Amino acid sequence: MTLFDFFESVELPVPAITPMQAADIAAQHFGIQAHVTALGSQQDANFLLRDLTGVPLGVLKIANPVFSRIELEAQDAASAFIAAGEGIRTATNIELAGSPPIAQIDGDKTLFPRIITYLDGGTLSGDAYLRPAKVAGLGALAGRSCRALTNFDHPGVDRVMQWDLRHGIRTVGVLAEHITDAGQRQVVEAAAARAWQRVAQLADDLPIQVIHSDVTCDNVVCDADGIPDGLIDFGDLVRSWAVGELAVGVASVLSHDGAESATTLAAIEAFHAVRPLSPAEIEALWPLVVLRAAVLVVSGRQQSSIDADNAYAVAGQNQEWRMFERATQIPLDVMTAQIRTALGVARPGEPITADAALIAGLDPPDIVLLDLSVESDAMDAGSWLEPDCEDRLARAALAGGARAVLTEFGQARLTRSARLSEFSPATVATGVQLWPATPLTLTAPWTGVLDLSGDGPVLSVTGAAGTVTIRGGLRRDAAVAQGQSVTAGAALGSIEGPIWIQLLRHRPAGLPGDEVPDFVRPEYAAGWLDRVSDPAVLLGLAPTAQPAEDAATLRQRRSRAFAEVQEHYYDHPPRIERGWREHLIGTDGRSYLDMVNNVAVLGHGHPDLADTVARQWRRLNTNSRFNYAAVAELSQRLADTLPDPLDTVFLVNSGSESDDLALRLAMATTGRQDIVAVAEAYHGWTYATDAISTSIADNPNALSTRPPWVHTVPSPNAFRGEHRGADASRYAPEAVAIIEGLAAQGHPPAAFIAEPFYGNAGGMALPDGYLRAVYAAVRAAGGLAIADEVQVGYGRTGRWFWAFQQQDVIPDIVCVAKAMGNGQPLGAVITTREIAESFRTQGYFFSSAGGSPVSCVVGLTVLDVIERERLQENALTVGDHLKARILDLATRHPLIGTVHGSGLYMGVELVRDRTTLEPAAEETSAICERMLQLGVIVQPTGDRQNVLKMKPPMCLTRESADFFVAMLDRVLGTGF
Ligand code: PMP
Repeated sequence: MTLFDFFESVELPVPAITPMQAADIAAQHFGIQAHVTALGSQQDANFLLRDLTGVPLGVLKIANPVFSRIELEAQDAASAFIAAGEGIRTATNIELAGSPPIAQIDGDKTLFPRIITYLDGGTLSGDAYLRPAKVAGLGALAGRSCRALTNFDHPGVDRVMQWDLRHGIRTVGVLAEHITDAGQRQVVEAAAARAWQRVAQLADDLPIQVIHSDVTCDNVVCDADGIPDGLIDFGDLVRSWAVGELAVGVASVLSHDGAESATTLAAIEAFHAVRPLSPAEIEALWPLVVLRAAVLVVSGRQQSSIDADNAYAVAGQNQEWRMFERATQIPLDVMTAQIRTALGVARPGEPITADAALIAGLDPPDIVLLDLSVESDAMDAGSWLEPDCEDRLARAALAGGARAVLTEFGQARLTRSARLSEFSPATVATGVQLWPATPLTLTAPWTGVLDLSGDGPVLSVTGAAGTVTIRGGLRRDAAVAQGQSVTAGAALGSIEGPIWIQLLRHRPAGLPGDEVPDFVRPEYAAGWLDRVSDPAVLLGLAPTAQPAEDAATLRQRRSRAFAEVQEHYYDHPPRIERGWREHLIGTDGRSYLDMVNNVAVLGHGHPDLADTVARQWRRLNTNSRFNYAAVAELSQRLADTLPDPLDTVFLVNSGSESDDLALRLAMATTGRQDIVAVAEAYHGWTYATDAISTSIADNPNALSTRPPWVHTVPSPNAFRGEHRGADASRYAPEAVAIIEGLAAQGHPPAAFIAEPFYGNAGGMALPDGYLRAVYAAVRAAGGLAIADEVQVGYGRTGRWFWAFQQQDVIPDIVCVAKAMGNGQPLGAVITTREIAESFRTQGYFFSSAGGSPVSCVVGLTVLDVIERERLQENALTVGDHLKARILDLATRHPLIGTVHGSGLYMGVELVRDRTTLEPAAEETSAICERMLQLGVIVQPTGDRQNVLKMKPPMCLTRESADFFVAMLDRVLGTGF
């Protein structure tokens, strides 16, 4: 029996079989009565068979008649083999009594129908975003398929397929004519040729075995978490290069929204962990990805041209082109070096040294290094945002006496960062910049040949080890000429202004020596840096040390020493070492919009705060039993923000402490112990505040471990609680009844405590009149009203400085922290003189650092800045704008159930169904992960973890708010 040879019959129109005919085939040959729907395929005819109730029975596959029976038998055998060997779910033949596994219909061309199991879980088809875990899942599955098939063989696998990458260049050659646009055709042919050239050099070392050869997003099915765990469609099974199994999967990742070459590293790492790649396979991988993409483009165009009705093929064209463009965006060797780094097998080259100094008479001690990294002190106070920042800093160093100022090779420069960007900016320097104080003499570092071509004053010397290029403030000697040979130490010109120096390594034979951009994106930095060497060595300096510890290593170090129960945000948190206003910046220069740091009301890195604190530290820091002005001033300022009779202040260090003290004051005042709190609340971690916290998001056991003195009233949630909308007015009488009931049972409460705006539930306003009624009831029972303003106070709600003002009540005790210190540990309890005095029955109150001079000047400065920068007003205007824009998104994205909140305290509640309000918790978490990739930090909150909490620094600009909305829109539209 002859096996298929693509090059003998390049045209493979899908067998023309209608669903009706398919139903007949299923009935006649397999005895199955089924509802039939056509499934897309490029070369076969596939139909989903369902029973009368819609339950899938299997997939009827009618292979293209060009394939022989033995090839189909090989596919069925491989499928069963993988399932048995790896425990992977695979689509295998359904065994039907009385029917052969492969039927036969003779005619013009013999058809071989089969019925294969239908695997549920859905594929990864389409353009939607693929999160890293799915990408890794695809890679792992390809690895397992490849591993399982190592020992598989069958007479039906030695066929000649266009998908076998061993024939990749031939396939492109035969089918390229179907790309009608000449420009596109040329690009594809050139890329395929370059890739093939590299693969051909490695071919002898690439292991060969049987592979599925189509482990793509279309051919995997997923588990309940959406992670691929099953494999379908063995139609391309063939003996080929083993690494092709991975290349094919990697290429398919590239078509998805937001994907780029670096996205696929997760799949490559996962494959390597299952089925280690050999050195030759690592080198061949990216060229094979490019080749696969080229084959897909040409095959797709051919298929559409011969089978214009094949919607599946036509729709695939854009996808294939996108894949190709992305696969070829980064040069082959750069991506390969990046893959080596990701797999931990990078081979960093030795630094290139000079035979003569590049700059005559400039000694290393004369050179001052300019640190432009995220952690550089020179970057404080947003200085990097000034367009001339680098130049200004360099000139200041020259003014300070340096003969020359030099930047660092390989450094991620904050000065090259971009705020509000969905992509990581190109921050990593592939060369160095040098500013001379006075003209310096440029000399040839080695014997070599000169190149003067390029824009503006530029000069390169190519020697045995590499090519150094100098560009910028350079005056070439009149005698130097293009192509001239020079000896080491020969004078070439003078450096009269800032210059850029880049040192390219020689490329191994056969690799293109393309240019290296001055700055590259961190995701590809290892790859690009593989092409260059540190030019500082040519100036007699030691090469720059390796970049700072990366985020993942830091996290491991943290988990070794820091109790892990103190959790961290994100699966793979970036390493953040700087903040400025509403932006947080990773050490790679990536800037994130911070939508969660409610504590940093003023914004990050506020210079006024830093300066006042530093000044106060230098002058005095002691405790409040001494007599100094700051404690009196802060207490007075706080009391002035509150209505009478709230005129007496305690200063502590945190929200937990302030709530804890409030409880003790209430207990001391009333001589009682019972406390009424609102369900689902969080009030702190101390023994007492933890006792009154019933948020299961913060403590899953919260409801079952309440001590008997804690009583809760239902969370007055007007959106999803027992009483919704206008009915929410019923929460107040219910709470009143509980309080009255406690009093009647001999347990009158010492206090009722609540957030006056329900922050922990996602920033929900309490129902109108709620606190008025409940405060009245608790007071009638002889108890006190405590307002926990730890999160929602201090102007964040925009309309009110204190959130209790929204409810038109005056509490007996107000607790505040967080915003009060802008992140410095600082909290306060403000109450009446009489309640404060009650504490005397407990001894006297002292907190070592509470009310210290440093803490007090922090508190005063925060209040000053809030006033001076009109941050409460900003919270109102930007907050209203943001809310309106998110409500507008809700008209297009049904996942948005509602938007809670006021000012810059908001919660976007996500639901799977607007009628049942089923919480979209997994979605919320996945959305947060993708938002991080797009440069936004936002987190889930609430007991159901389905609310995006939005409580950014109060200096948030309208532009930043708009960026948040644009990214949320993108994520909701393209997947997470
Ligand atoms: N009360 C509320 C409403 C809070 O949100 C928090 C902290 N999330 C606290 C009290 C405890 O504050 P801290 O973490 O400063 O102890």
